[in-house]
Amino acid sequence: MAKSISCSDAGKDCKWSATTETEEELMEKVTEHVIAEHKEIELDAEAITSIKSLIRDI
Ligand SMILES: [Zn+2]
Repeated sequence: MAKSISCSDAGKDCKWSATTETEEELMEKVTEHVIAEHKEIELDAEAITSIKSLIRDI
């Protein structure tokens, strides 16, 4: 089962999404994307917890 996430699920006006085989890989992609496109988001423990709650199994 693959893991998927999209920015629109987080309420962002952004069409980015990613699908990977593992949650670890997905969080790496999310981190790269947030650093590149959503500099206002601070990736603290709270933000990471809420991001992980948006991950879907597909
Ligand atoms: Zn985005």
